[in-house]
Order: sequence, then C-alpha cells, then structure tokens
Amino acid sequence: MSNIVTVTHSSKTTLETCPYKYYLSYIAGIKSAQTSYPLRFGSMLHKWLETYHNNDNDLEVTIQQLQSDESITEDNTTDLIKVICCLELYHNRFADDKEGIAEIGFDLELMKYNNNNYMFAGKMDLLDSDSGIIKEFKTTEKDIADGSPYWQEAFLSPQCVGYYKAALEMSSDIKQLQYIVFKRVMLRLKKNETIEQYTARVMENSEMKVKTIPITKSMVEKWQQEMIDTVKVLDFFYSNGIWPKYKSQCNGKFGKCPFYAHCNLDADLECGLYIKKERQHEELELELETDTED
Ligand code: SF4
Repeated sequence: MSNIVTVTHSSKTTLETCPYKYYLSYIAGIKSAQTSYPLRFGSMLHKWLETYHNNDNDLEVTIQQLQSDESITEDNTTDLIKVICCLELYHNRFADDKEGIAEIGFDLELMKYNNNNYMFAGKMDLLDSDSGIIKEFKTTEKDIADGSPYWQEAFLSPQCVGYYKAALEMSSDIKQLQYIVFKRVMLRLKKNETIEQYTARVMENSEMKVKTIPITKSMVEKWQQEMIDTVKVLDFFYSNGIWPKYKSQCNGKFGKCPFYAHCNLDADLECGLYIKKERQHEELELELETDTED
C-alpha cells in the first residue's frame, strides 16, 4: 500500500534550510511555543482579508467584527490598527472585485516514487475563476518599491508556479497571478500619543503594491525539476531515517532558528520552549505569506 507524503511550499523551504529542522517540524511535530511577530501579523492580516471577502467586501462590517474580536487585547491594539489600515488600502483598490473564493485549498499529485505518493498541497489566498486571477497576499518589512530586490525575487518565486499549476487544475482559464504585498509598519505607540494620532501615522506609512507575476515556460520547467529533486531528497531521508543538521543555517536572515536551544544547548523538547503541533502541516490551516523563516 502506498503512503501519501504531502509537500507544501513551507515544508519544502524547511527541508532545503535544514533537514533536521524538517524532521522536528514535520515528523516529530514540534514547533516553537513563541510565534514570531511577522508570522503573527501575517496570520492576522490573512484572517481579516478572508473575512472581508466573506463579507462581500464590506469594510465597515469587517472592521466592526475585528474590533469586537475577543482575541484582540490591549497588547495587540496597535496590530489591530495596522490591519485596519491594510484593509482600507485593499478596499480602496479592490472594493468592486467581489468575485472569488478566499483561502481555497488544493492537493496536486506530484509523482509516485518508491511506493510513496507525493502530493503538493497549499492554500490560495483568493481564486477568481471568472476573471482568471489568483491573488496571493504577502507581508514584508522589505522595500517594495518598483525595481527593488523584493520584486526581482518575487518574479522568480517557484511558489507562484506551484499555485498557478494547482489553479489550472481547478479552472483551465487562469490568466494571471497577482502578488498583493503589504509593507509591515513597524511604528510603536509613542508616549502621550492618542490612538487617533497613532492611526494617522500608521495610515501615512502603510503601503500596498500589486503586481502581476508572469509565469513562463522555463519557470514551470524549473519548478517541476525542483519538485522531482525535493521528492528524491525527501525519499532518501525518510528511507534512511537520517536527518542531517545544516549548522550553517542556525542563524538565518531573520534571527536564530526556533530549534536553536534544542540543537545547541541540549534543551529538552519538553522544556516549555516547544509545543506539539496539532497537525503535521499546520501551515495549511492558513498558508502564511511572510518573509520570516520561522
Ligand atoms: S538549530 Fe540549526 S541544526 Fe538545529 S534544526 Fe535549526 S537550523 Fe537545523
């Protein structure tokens, strides 16, 4: 009987970063007890963009729901304001685009290899089959000006190809993949500043960019080859039960790997720094599009 092995954009990136990190995340099913700020904010914004779409693009209703959300405490009031500013930018541009299904999951058959059935799974932020557009929401602290390195990377992102191929399976009429990128505003509430003053400052600094990512034949070929390579590497590690530690990756672009304490100080996985994941691919609950490595 063949096993199904699911590959997501996130699990593939984790495997490439460090196979041991993959083992801890996807086999031992462990995650850091602390969620990084980029992940928390990205997750919050995704959730409320989805709610906005489910509310038929009604910004007022969405903001009312957001303001009465019990998970919003005094500690994250500033995040609530940042999310509202992002929703306003989005609404100003897309209020009339009411078609599309938000957070649509997919499972794409990749290949059978050594008795395992490898699938590529993910969630598209919005799929509008009528106009043939897939929208992907991203948050970043990086410069998102036209011509910046952010866009050079985005235009080559293999993730776009995977989502594009999955969307084609659902609707043969897919014409465009749009990246909708929100710059994360890092402003703090100043002493003696009112919420109104802070909101005005966040709004002034908030930024959203929309770009169409062209999917070329060579990108599709590159993605297919990358997926074949990923399957072979995964299969090798699974078959041999060996998950090497890539020590060069312990200190990443966005700080230390969340498993650093366990790997380097011999901290027990039960020491309180880590918790058990509810499911192997938690990222499929809400596909997080941030530039964090966590
Ligand atoms: S701390 Fe380093 S070796 Fe350990 S899982 Fe993270 S990247 Fe891999």
